[in-house]
Amino acid sequence: MSGSPAAVDTGTVQPQDVQGAAVPGSRLPATALAGRAASGTAPLGAGGALLIEEREFDVLVVGSGAGGGTLAGELAEAGLAVLLLERGTTLPLVDQNVANIDLFRRRRYHPSEEWIGTDGDPFAPQMVMAPGGNTKIWGGVLERMREQEFCHLPMQEGPGPDWELRYADLEPWYQRAEALYRVHGEAGSDATEPRRSAPYPLAPRPLEPFQELLRDDLRRQGLHPYRLPLSVGESAEDPSGDAEGFGLERARRFPGFELRSGAEVLALHGSASGREVRAVEARIDGQRWLFRAHHVVLAAGAVASAVILLRSATERHPRGMANGSDQVGRNLMRPQLTAMLQRSAIVHSGRYGPGLGLTDFHDGDRNVDYALGVVRGGGGVLQDPLFAESPPVLSLVSRLLPDPALEWLADRSVSWWVASAVRPDPENRVSLRGERVVVNDLPNNREAHDRLVYRWLAVMQQVERDPATTVVQRAPIYPRGEAPQSVMGFACGTCRLGSDPARSVVNLEGRCHEVANLWIADGSILPGCPSVGPGLTIVANALRIAAAIREELGR
Ligand SMILES: Cc1cc2nc3c(=O)[nH]c(=O)nc-3n(C[C@H](O)[C@H](O)[C@H](O)COP(=O)(O)OP(=O)(O)OC[C@H]3O[C@@H](n4cnc5c(N)ncnc54)[C@H](O)[C@@H]3O)c2cc1C
Repeated sequence: MSGSPAAVDTGTVQPQDVQGAAVPGSRLPATALAGRAASGTAPLGAGGALLIEEREFDVLVVGSGAGGGTLAGELAEAGLAVLLLERGTTLPLVDQNVANIDLFRRRRYHPSEEWIGTDGDPFAPQMVMAPGGNTKIWGGVLERMREQEFCHLPMQEGPGPDWELRYADLEPWYQRAEALYRVHGEAGSDATEPRRSAPYPLAPRPLEPFQELLRDDLRRQGLHPYRLPLSVGESAEDPSGDAEGFGLERARRFPGFELRSGAEVLALHGSASGREVRAVEARIDGQRWLFRAHHVVLAAGAVASAVILLRSATERHPRGMANGSDQVGRNLMRPQLTAMLQRSAIVHSGRYGPGLGLTDFHDGDRNVDYALGVVRGGGGVLQDPLFAESPPVLSLVSRLLPDPALEWLADRSVSWWVASAVRPDPENRVSLRGERVVVNDLPNNREAHDRLVYRWLAVMQQVERDPATTVVQRAPIYPRGEAPQSVMGFACGTCRLGSDPARSVVNLEGRCHEVANLWIADGSILPGCPSVGPGLTIVANALRIAAAIREELGR
């Protein structure tokens, strides 16, 4: 499938200006490369060969997660020649099977990379770098954003952002996204659920018996638990629905598609005018490569996509490619997530997927007229990698307990995730210090999250006091912990979309304002932080952006 690489000794490359003209044959875009070297990136190919892929693709996609994997499948099916460069290599099935104590204990989902955090100390981000990206370990809860979140949702510290897009603009894409990702759900059971043009494609998955009882217990307290919509794959070996199955597997069926895993994109090289991307530079097996395509789509996730643009600074783009607005890297958002454990009155397996959701406090509470967030029943404690890795209290407990005690904890507790959105803040940002990635990320709307956590504690106790309750029982403590900065898997917002080039990085179709053949299709383009989880919105946007690219290419 792959075209033959042309090995070029960098010492003999002729400096060629790439302005306006197509990159000729296998020659290097030397001006751009020189510009980059001057901008602080390590000199290219020093002493070694720089390989140039001779084939020119219709579309080159960087990253194969929720955004990139989905978009690649869509474009490959349209008959386009698509090259996907993915930094990671395949995640072994055993590592995907998260219902496993051994796995639960190890810090397996941290790449070797370290970033500098808000406190100035390095940290290892929790995320998966593999074909499928973070969807390889996600909970697969795929929910539509609520209608009011698209425009100035009242939040504790002020109104939420105006997405300029409205729910009605995304509704057809949500519908397609749910069909593609085989979402199992039940329409009409949640009062905040937005209007749908069709029912869920598949019926909800059965709940665990104790979850059924818990739902009744919550209803008796006047709450409205609903079945969380879940993506489920068709493979018996790997049943969780993810972007590898629904994006890459689909793309592989078409001859124009090529995936190169283990390919870390380092930078983009622009034309002399700065208005086009001419080549994408990647490191594969220690070698530097250049790839060319008519259109380039960044989908490396909210941190890495911003980093690639910042590292692509040249004289034309001194602050980074597509960054005339100085918005690249800014407005980083991560939902505030607190895990809580409740004591179960009945012994269960400890291994099950997420089941119940509650949006009763989505828009506020008694005497609170701003959004608080959502509550979601977590997966079994042994099946939810977030428990193992993130909340310090729980992860410490998990590391200290011997296996039987951990099993005991798992099958005698019920887990909850309490999630609150944050507002975009330009000072919360991804930036570079030399080659190091710096992530400054101070959550706002803290009081809203605290209120929701304490409200949920009160609900748990109220349920336990009810004599009709059989599933949960009173306990002296409710272990809980908030996801620390290292939990970056939900990050969004660093290259936000908008119609004003001075305030956004891409237009409403996902195309960079300043670089005509550069698109972004991952969580970075979201202008706000969906409290229900960003997954389905990223997939829906990727489908929408794929349609715009197809139209551009007449396919
Ligand atoms: C434990 C966990 C549970 C979650 N559960 C849910 C859930 O239930 N529901 C929900 O909606 N969301 C959930 N999320 C969040 C969801 O997974 C992410 O929002 C989503 O995957 C982000 O999609 P993306 O396309 O922006 O990036 P990703 O899915 O992260 O994909 C980015 C890809 O780019 C690759 N890449 C990075 N840098 C480079 C580079 N330089 N060159 C080439 N490739 C590169 C990465 O390896 C990765 O494959 C969860 C996340 C985690 C970590």
